[in-house]
Amino acid sequence: MALWFSETASPGHRLDWKVKRMLFSGQSELQTVEVLDTEQFGPSLVLDGIMQTTTGDEYIYHEMMAWVPLNAHPRPEQVLIIGGGDGGLAREVLQSPKVKEVTLVEIDPLVIEVSRKFLPTHGAAFDDPRFKLVIGDGLAYLAKPDHHYDLILVDSTDPEGTGPGSVLYTEEFHQRVRSALTDQGLYVQQSGTPTYNPEVLRDASHSVSRVFPICRVYWCVVPTYPGGLFTFTSGSMKYDLMQFQATHVNHARWYTAAIHRASFALPPIVARLVPNEVSQAQSRAE
Ligand code: SAM
Repeated sequence: MALWFSETASPGHRLDWKVKRMLFSGQSELQTVEVLDTEQFGPSLVLDGIMQTTTGDEYIYHEMMAWVPLNAHPRPEQVLIIGGGDGGLAREVLQSPKVKEVTLVEIDPLVIEVSRKFLPTHGAAFDDPRFKLVIGDGLAYLAKPDHHYDLILVDSTDPEGTGPGSVLYTEEFHQRVRSALTDQGLYVQQSGTPTYNPEVLRDASHSVSRVFPICRVYWCVVPTYPGGLFTFTSGSMKYDLMQFQATHVNHARWYTAAIHRASFALPPIVARLVPNEVSQAQSRAE
């Protein structure tokens, strides 16, 4: 009898993955942590029953979350990642020779432990000499950050209920991010799937555009996220994320200069969720 993992995307829609083997299942102080070896996408991380990242398609999300800001900032030397305990985003950021240090603040040490063991392609960054791990809450870390950062990237779980990710979507958090950035700093956070959770993109983009001089929203397609369409919301002190300093990345499987540009063209069903000044600025640039 085949084993299947089901994620409930909404009361009316479920996503199923055929599972070859359960590689890990455990409970940390914060969440249920599972690693499934899936037929279609290989070893995959699930937290509290929500698919987080799969070996088969993680490169799309991590290339887009890393290379859009990396190519929009001339000197992305100090990078802070909040969340991202699977290691995939850190691995991608550390591909840039301009990056001098990545500090990753992950609230759950069990995620680091299982990612090291069962998601080897994600965790390649953990042994990079430029990589620094802090176990803790991203909101608390920003109260006393070790540096001012050129990039702050928030690769957290969704702001579901009482989950640990909820504090990373508040205006208080966005204010702390702004104070932890340099005066030319850039911020990007994952803002979810607008077809299932439009309120995440709506609330994040309105809060970020209140706190930062420039707010931009871009998107990509992640097959294993509900509906595929996935968004990122960015705040910037100086640089416009749509412009970029470099036009190539020589190892990407999804990201190109053309994809960078195209990802800011918002379909009307997405544009209507973000502040008018953001959607108008992005449609003028098309
Ligand atoms: N790419 C995935 C997505 O978009 O849903 C996220 C993957 S990553 C595994 C999410 C990580 O954020 C988890 O390991 C979780 O423990 C961490 N996290 C959630 N809330 C956090 C917080 N307040 N501070 C630091 N890490 C947090």
